[in-house]
Amino acid sequence: MKKHNFSAGPAILPQSVMQEASEACIEFNGMGMSILEISHRSKQFDAVELEARQLVHEIGGFDDRFAVLFLSGGASTQFALAPMNLLKEGEKAAYVDTGVWASKAIKEAKLFGKAEVLASSKDSNYSFIPKSYDIPSDAAYLHLTSNNTIYGTQLHEFPKSPVPIVCDMSSDMYSRPFDVEQFGLVYAGAQKNLGAAGVTIVIVRKDLIGRSERQLPSMFDYKLHLENGSMYNTPPVFSLYVTMLTLRWLKEQGGLAAIQKHNESKAAILYNEIDANPLFKGTVAVEDRSLMNVCFLPTNADHEAPFMEMAKAAGIDGIKGHRSVGGFRASIYNAMPQSSVQVLVDVMREFAQKNG
Ligand SMILES: *Cc1c(COP(=O)(O)O)cnc(C)c1O
Repeated sequence: MKKHNFSAGPAILPQSVMQEASEACIEFNGMGMSILEISHRSKQFDAVELEARQLVHEIGGFDDRFAVLFLSGGASTQFALAPMNLLKEGEKAAYVDTGVWASKAIKEAKLFGKAEVLASSKDSNYSFIPKSYDIPSDAAYLHLTSNNTIYGTQLHEFPKSPVPIVCDMSSDMYSRPFDVEQFGLVYAGAQKNLGAAGVTIVIVRKDLIGRSERQLPSMFDYKLHLENGSMYNTPPVFSLYVTMLTLRWLKEQGGLAAIQKHNESKAAILYNEIDANPLFKGTVAVEDRSLMNVCFLPTNADHEAPFMEMAKAAGIDGIKGHRSVGGFRASIYNAMPQSSVQVLVDVMREFAQKNG
């Protein structure tokens, strides 16, 4: 039986993307060879990289003042590459601490300069997004995490910033429209919402590249990757191909405005049930609820295991909450169909009828 995959990441992908990707593993583009065995310098793969890059531009609606890079090492590598490339020796960068991923980004920044934490919701286990803080105008950049995958909080509005915003969008990039012009650097590991693990999508304002004036190892230098069209070394060929297919799919869905509608209606179905069902409760401030990762607890802790059993029997997979929050987390990324969300809601109702 095909499962309803609510995993936080690697996560659900469109069925059509997996179909096409699996066919390409046998033979790609009538070449008599698999996508896994062709040269990354081939004409055919060049076309994949170009289409992926153009789709990132087209779907995001931004021009050539921004570079699109496809790198490896995950979003976690960008925690370090952002300060390495943008933060000068002795300068400070501003960070907002909204969870484990933000804290890891702060830790890396401290290796390359000062990281000033403007606000943190750590004391309340990151159950809300801090919003009142002043952004120092002498900071090199402001670093934000747009969606906190573990806790299920999301920035629904970005602050007006006097300095460029650097944003980890790993778990909500291209789930809704956003104005790229507001940002200096955006990065996302593909495996949450945009493809298979292995490739990281980086959008960076070209005039910020090299800002740190640091001598960098080649692989850590955005400038070098830009000059080499993300092919200074062998890129994660298959992951990049899957991302290209996922972007094609996203465009076919109608792009960011359309996918936002889809995501809003899926999230509303689930949050409405959490609020209406006496056996469950949400874990975060209502105004900061994520449209991607929906975290909830049973009102009675003894209900955790039996609810999990019932969900499992309905083909639901991946809803165990992160250990730092507990309970349940339903990740409902772009590719998650509304019908699967409805299956989860139906199980919650049935559970309440039997146990309420
Ligand atoms: C998953 C995740 C990361 C880590 O991504 P990797 O690609 O595993 O390094 C970073 N930030 C956020 C918000 C995430 O959800």
